[in-house]
Amino acid sequence: MTETLFSKIIDREIPADIVYEDDLCLAFRDIDPQAPVHILLIPKKPIVKVADAVEEDQVLLGYLLLKAGDIAKEQGYGEAFRLVINNGEAAGQTVFHLHIHILAGREFSWPAG
Ligand code: 5GP
Repeated sequence: MTETLFSKIIDREIPADIVYEDDLCLAFRDIDPQAPVHILLIPKKPIVKVADAVEEDQVLLGYLLLKAGDIAKEQGYGEAFRLVINNGEAAGQTVFHLHIHILAGREFSWPAG
């Protein structure tokens, strides 16, 4: 996988407002927030998109979901938050390093746009 904006954030080549980090993942505030809380949670493993994840990523993907819930809770929104994963350009993905958007702090409509 080629270097992306997010791998540069992992490597501290680009600054970011980091809210959580461990050996497997990094979470930082989105530069263009779409809600009062808008955090991006990424695996350190450079998976391009969900559709490119493989069987060996099963535990990692579950870990990210659990961590997303923890982060929302830690931000004070454990009971109401939205997780979004855009998979592929036509679905709105612009950075090709898998990421979960954690959005909270406002009302969310359905269906998603
Ligand atoms: P996507 O559209 O791929 O699902 O989400 C990419 C997200 O990355 C967008 O919400 C966008 O605002 C965010 N983003 C783009 N460039 C940067 C950056 O340099 N720093 C941070 N923190 N977020 C970024």
